[in-house]
Amino acid sequence: MTDNQTRLGKFTVPVLDYLQTQDKPRSAYDILDELRDKGAKAPMQIYRALAKLEEAGLVHKLPKSNSWIACDGHHHDEVQDMLLLLSCQSCGAVEEVHDTTFQKAISSLIKKTHYDLPAQTIEVDGYCQPCKNDS
Ligand SMILES: [Zn+2]
Ligand SMILES: [Zn+2]
Repeated sequence: MTDNQTRLGKFTVPVLDYLQTQDKPRSAYDILDELRDKGAKAPMQIYRALAKLEEAGLVHKLPKSNSWIACDGHHHDEVQDMLLLLSCQSCGAVEEVHDTTFQKAISSLIKKTHYDLPAQTIEVDGYCQPCKNDS
């Protein structure tokens, strides 16, 4: 365990480990059920771990479904204060979009309106390629 992981707290590493093995987003309650044998008792413990992981850019929250995925390993820099997630309505798979064209376009549009837009995740519903080919 590295210093960085110790600093993150008791359940952060198990939560991250669990999310990294999942191919679909999981809710805090799914995670809690999974970590009961590791001593997790309350949703708050899971939410706290998720908040720390999210801050570190290791997991991402899907705002609409209120669930989390592990980051695909992409390094998030400051340009990427806006995250685009494509969420498949058929199989539930989530894909991160790392094209900064999108972030830059939104940022410059927002600047013109003088609107204050905090860092956020935009979740877009759709169908992934395998599901699209299936139908
Ligand atoms: Zn990511
Ligand atoms: Zn799909």
